[in-house]
Amino acid sequence: MTRCPRCGAEAQVERTWQVISPLPDALGRITITVLGTFRCGSCGYRWKGRVSSIKVGPEGEVSLGKDGGRGRRPSERREGKVIEVDLSDILEEE
Ligand SMILES: [Zn+2]
Repeated sequence: MTRCPRCGAEAQVERTWQVISPLPDALGRITITVLGTFRCGSCGYRWKGRVSSIKVGPEGEVSLGKDGGRGRRPSERREGKVIEVDLSDILEEE
């Protein structure tokens, strides 16, 4: 859970978008970083930050950054955080 850096209250993710790294890591995986804008419901402070990161392997396996790099097929991905991404956001952000 993300907390407000100003007052410490629980913050909500307003919107997210993806940033895809063009360089694969040592295992040939592409890192997709999910960024988002957060808004504090208590004091109204807004800021941007990283929501999560996903690594996609050369054969399509996906692993979440928090899982320590365990490879899993997308169809088998049942645990972990569900991330909703509106692809149109990518075009709006730089
Ligand atoms: Zn706050």
